[in-house]
Amino acid sequence: MGQVTVTLPDGSSRTVPAGTPVRGVAEGISPRLAKAALAALVDGRLVDLVHPLDRDAAVRIVTDSSPEALMLCRHSTAHLLAAAVTNLFPGAQCGIGPATDEGFFYDFVVDRPFVPEDLETIEKKMKQLAAEDLPYERQMWPREQAKAFFARRGEPLKVQLIDEKTEGQRDVSCYTIKDPETFVDFCTGPHVPSTGTLKTFKILSTSNAYWKGDARNQPMQRIYGTAFPTDKELKAYLTQLEEAKKRDHRKLGRELRLFTFHQWAPGAAFWLEKGTTLYHTLANYMRGVLSPAGYVEVKTPLVYNKALWERSGHWKHYRQNMFLIESENETMSVKPMNCPGHFLTYASETRSYRDLPIRLHEQTPLHRNEVSGVLSGLTRVRQFSQDDAHCFVMQDQIGDEVERLIRLVERVYDDFGLPFSAKLSTRPEEFLGEVATWDHAESQLRAALDRAGMAYTLNEGDGAFYGPKIDFDVTDAIGRKWQCATIQLDYAQPENFDLKYIGADNTEHRPVVIHRAIFGSFERFIAILIEHYAGAFPLWLAPVQAIVLPIADRHAAYAGEVRDRLRAAGLRAELDERQEKIGYKIREAQLQKVPYMLVVGDREAETGTISVRERSGGDKGATPIDAFIALARDEVETKGTPAAVARG
Ligand SMILES: [Zn+2]
Ligand SMILES: [Zn+2]
Repeated sequence: MGQVTVTLPDGSSRTVPAGTPVRGVAEGISPRLAKAALAALVDGRLVDLVHPLDRDAAVRIVTDSSPEALMLCRHSTAHLLAAAVTNLFPGAQCGIGPATDEGFFYDFVVDRPFVPEDLETIEKKMKQLAAEDLPYERQMWPREQAKAFFARRGEPLKVQLIDEKTEGQRDVSCYTIKDPETFVDFCTGPHVPSTGTLKTFKILSTSNAYWKGDARNQPMQRIYGTAFPTDKELKAYLTQLEEAKKRDHRKLGRELRLFTFHQWAPGAAFWLEKGTTLYHTLANYMRGVLSPAGYVEVKTPLVYNKALWERSGHWKHYRQNMFLIESENETMSVKPMNCPGHFLTYASETRSYRDLPIRLHEQTPLHRNEVSGVLSGLTRVRQFSQDDAHCFVMQDQIGDEVERLIRLVERVYDDFGLPFSAKLSTRPEEFLGEVATWDHAESQLRAALDRAGMAYTLNEGDGAFYGPKIDFDVTDAIGRKWQCATIQLDYAQPENFDLKYIGADNTEHRPVVIHRAIFGSFERFIAILIEHYAGAFPLWLAPVQAIVLPIADRHAAYAGEVRDRLRAAGLRAELDERQEKIGYKIREAQLQKVPYMLVVGDREAETGTISVRERSGGDKGATPIDAFIALARDEVETKGTPAAVARG
C-alpha cells in the first residue's frame, strides 16, 4: 500500500498509509483531538471519521467548536429521533429528517397524531439511546438490496427516495445506529461518530405535514426539535424561543388587527386598515429613500405570455412555482419576479452611456406558487411585493453603484435600529461568462465593501452561476438573524434580452444588471418588524400614533377637536368615544400598543391642553396641544426614541 500526504490547517503535513481513516489522522495529532473529533473536512468536503484517505488531501478535523458542528449534530440528532420513534411506535414509517437553521425535524406516517406525552417519551428514549453511546455506522448496500430492505420493512417512502436520489448508482449509503434491527436509514451522511456525543438536544413540537410538503400527498406527522454542540447554546436558544413565541407576528398580527388570512386565498394576506397603513408607510418611506438616490418608479404588467418566460429562462427552471393562466389559447403566467418586465422597459428605448446608470424601482405584487404545506404567516406566502429595483450599469460603474447601494442598505437598517452583517459570494464552479469578467466584478465588489467601511464574510464559490452577490442579514431584538437585502450582479439576462447602450465610441455595448432589494419582501419585512418591536412600533411606523380618550361624554366635543387638530398636522390620530371607564380605555389602548394616549377631562378642556400618557406607562401630565404636535412631529421626523414630551 502506498502513502498519502495530508496537509493540516496550520500548513504542516504528515504522511499516512493510504486507506487510513481520518480518525487516524486526528489520533496522530493528539489523543485529545481524537476524542473531540466529530467529523472531518477532506478537501473541503464534510466526511465521517471512518472516511478512508486514499489520496493526498487537505484535512481539517471538525470538533464542537467548528462551524460545521452545528448542522452535523442536528442532522445526527434527527436520526436519533427517528430511531426513538420507530422503537416506540412499531410500524411508524419514516419520511425525511433534515437539519434546519432552527434545529431539525423528521416526518413520520403514524396511526394517530403525536400528543405532548408522546414527545416526552420520545425525548426520554433519545436520551437513553444517546447514553448507550451507539456508533453511527456507514454501510454501502447494492441499490436493489437497499430498496428490498426498506420495502420489506414497510417503508415505501424510503424506497421512493432511493429511486429518486440515486438513479444510476450501483451502491447507496445507509446508516445504522447500533445494528440493522435497531434502526437503518438511507442517507448520504455524514454523522457524528456515535450517539454519545449528542447530549444537548430538545424535542419541541409536532404538527401535521404531508409527504414532500404537498397536501395531495400522504398525510404525515412532523416532530420538531433542536440541537446544539454545547449546553450553553441550547439554553440561550430555548430562552430566545420563549421570547419569540410572545412576539410571533401571526399572533400579534391578529391581536393588533393588522392582517388576516382565509382558506380560500392560501398564502395571501388580507391587509386590514391598520396593516394597510403600516404597509403604505413602509412603501412611501422606501420611495422617499430611493427617489433622491436616482431611482425612478415604474409599474410593469402582472401577467405575461409564456414567450417572455422562455426568454428569461424561468419557463425551464421555475415553471413549477408560477401560476399559469390560459387566455385565447395562449399560456400566460402571473409574474413571480419583476426582472423581465424591467428588461423590456429598458429595451423600450435606445439608451446612451450618458443615461447610465438607469435604476428602475417597482413595488407591484408578485405571485409564487409555493406548496400549501410550507405557507406560514407573512414569512412564507404566495403573494407579496418587493422593494425591488434593477440598476443598469456599464462595467466600470459596478464599483460605484455597489458602494452607493451598500450605503443605502446601511442607512435603511439604521432607521429601523436593525444591526446587520454582509456576505460576499463569489464565482461558483459552474458559471457563465469569462473568468476575467468575474475577477473584475468581484474585485469591484470587494473594493466597494472596503470603501463603504463594511466588514463582510466571504462565501467562496457561493455566487449564482450568472454573477457574484452580496447578501445582508439583519439581527432582530432577540438575536435572530434574517436575510433581507441582496445585491446581485447579472451578466446573463442582458444577453438573453439583448440589452444595449450606445457607448462614447458610438457603438453598441452590453450593460450589466444589478438586481437589488433592501427590505426583500414587504410581507416578510413587516413580519420581522412586528417581532423585532414586539408589536410596539416606533411612532413613525405606528398605524395609530395617538388616541384621544375623553373621560366623560361631556368631553367628547373637545376630544374630537383635539383629534382633528392632530390629523390636520399629519399625525395618525383616533378617538375612543365609547361609553367606557377611562381606565378600561387606557388598558385597551396599551394592549393595542398605541404610542400616545391623550386623556381629556374638565381641566384639559378648560385650559386647551391634553394629558399625555406614554404606551410604556409614563405619565407626562398636561401639555398644550401645539407643544405635543411639535414634539410628536419631531419624533416622527427623526424616527427617534420617544421624545421627552415633558421637555415641552
Ligand atoms: Zn443522515
Ligand atoms: Zn431581479
